[in-house]
Amino acid sequence: MSDHCYPFSVEPLPYEADALEPYINTQTMQIHHDRLYKAYVDRLNALLEECSALQNTSLEQMLSVPSRLPSPVRTRIVNFGGGVWNHRFFFAALRPGRQNNQPSGGLLTAIERKYGSFEQFRKFFHEKAMAVFGSGWLWLVKDRSGCIFIEETPNQNCPLSCGHTPLTAIDVWEHAYFLQYLNLRSDYIDNWFSVVNWAAAEQIYQGGCG
Ligand code: MN
Repeated sequence: MSDHCYPFSVEPLPYEADALEPYINTQTMQIHHDRLYKAYVDRLNALLEECSALQNTSLEQMLSVPSRLPSPVRTRIVNFGGGVWNHRFFFAALRPGRQNNQPSGGLLTAIERKYGSFEQFRKFFHEKAMAVFGSGWLWLVKDRSGCIFIEETPNQNCPLSCGHTPLTAIDVWEHAYFLQYLNLRSDYIDNWFSVVNWAAAEQIYQGGCG
């Protein structure tokens, strides 16, 4: 990530806004990135402008231990800061679509060990993403011992706050898919699987970053 503390900037998409067509369409990406993600950046910066004690603190530090945040701003840091971190992660976790998109290497082995096969993992992840009630996220994370599991977070809560390292994520807020898919979240989840950047997930899984 290009900036680590206040003031935060709107990081450009790591690909063109139309690069994920037809799985996630251009208008959805533009509004999601240029307006919704930007709004989180703006709100976080406005909050931190009034909170000099946190201006040299990285977003990861703020989100990792929310209990250490000053109580008057804690909830808003979790909401706005989580909105910034989660969206940066989400956009970087995608890439142009491909058929039979799946992980390889150590991450595939870990998924097969835990879920039996990639197809079974996919089916289970799909069910969990469908079951997210209200606005939230579904993540594939690893814990400190390297175990992988699926984790749901409400609102803009971030798995970093539970000590977990995200490997990939699907945003299941309606704003992530409604323009293209209306209420058909299941189709969005199916197509999200075509644009997952499994190489990035593998790199994090192997400890490359995150
Ligand atoms: Mn979103």
